[in-house]
Amino acid sequence: MNPFHYYTPDTQDELLTLLQQYGDSAKLMAGGTALVIMMKQRLVVPEALISLHRLPGLAAVREADGSVHLGALLTHRGAELSPLLQARLPVLAETYRHVATVRIRNVATVGGSIAHADPNQDPPVTLLAFDARVQMTSTAGSREVPLVDFFTDYYETVLRPDELLTGLRVPIPAPHTGSVHLKFLPRTADDYATVGVAATVQIDPSTGTCQTCRIALGSVGSTPLRAQQAEALVQGQALSTALLREASAVAQQQTDPLNDTRGSASYKRAMAGVFVRRALEQAWQHAMGTVAGS
Ligand SMILES: Cc1cc2nc3c(=O)[nH]c(=O)nc-3n(C[C@H](O)[C@H](O)[C@H](O)COP(=O)(O)OP(=O)(O)OC[C@H]3O[C@@H](n4cnc5c(N)ncnc54)[C@H](O)[C@@H]3O)c2cc1C
Repeated sequence: MNPFHYYTPDTQDELLTLLQQYGDSAKLMAGGTALVIMMKQRLVVPEALISLHRLPGLAAVREADGSVHLGALLTHRGAELSPLLQARLPVLAETYRHVATVRIRNVATVGGSIAHADPNQDPPVTLLAFDARVQMTSTAGSREVPLVDFFTDYYETVLRPDELLTGLRVPIPAPHTGSVHLKFLPRTADDYATVGVAATVQIDPSTGTCQTCRIALGSVGSTPLRAQQAEALVQGQALSTALLREASAVAQQQTDPLNDTRGSASYKRAMAGVFVRRALEQAWQHAMGTVAGS
């Protein structure tokens, strides 16, 4: 690794001042699971490394204003085991449980996973399906951006070099909403997905038709993505085999995967169709189950 200055600020103000001072020659470190590898490979060569581990108050999970708020320094393991998340957004808690191994989940953070912006990661897919918001702050003020507008390219986001990602706000789904995250793992249980799909379907309980639908995919493009054309096709419709087939074909067209060790681009695109179909059907059935039980 290159030599670098190492800072461990105790307050957010101290940290933001350092960020302002160093600009894009500084790197923030949360769990370090992605960053240290990139530094060892010299893909990232920071002049200053600023650790977040002493910052207070950024690892909480709480409910307010119809949303669950996840602090940026909450670990994946903390999210997976949070009773609040398990009760309010069980599919999101389950998604964190499907990341890597428990050793990684014990240190990797919710904020680090989003800021890293690797399109192969799992949590961004489910967070997109839940229409999550990203909260950021700098010495110039704070802002909130919909996750769907946050990722711009491979490992690129709208986060500015002077900004700290402080947390995520995840709206609690409306009644009669079903949701699912499917991770297609043909190799080993702790691998990255060959394709990941999450879907939420809110139905009108009197007719069973879809009121709102969100479909998100990972590992099939330069960013995690929403299949918005497929969503539009499904909204207002009743569940049918023909609709599922048509929606999955449209979603497939939005993918642009790479050939790699987890499959060829054409295989991933085919699997994206299969998994969109399964995810939509399962989310819809969960939503119908809420009507039967109410
Ligand atoms: C062996 C292995 C297996 C893995 N398998 C999976 C998998 O199956 N599924 C999956 O989803 N992921 C997987 N990952 C990726 C893992 O989820 C990420 O490495 C992790 O989420 C990054 O979080 P971190 O806290 O360690 O971030 P760090 O490594 O500390 O930081 C990552 C990036 O985010 C920036 N950053 C961190 N926190 C903030 C913040 N609060 N504000 C602004 N910028 C910030 C850093 O500057 C850096 O650029 C795996 C990683 C490893 C090493």
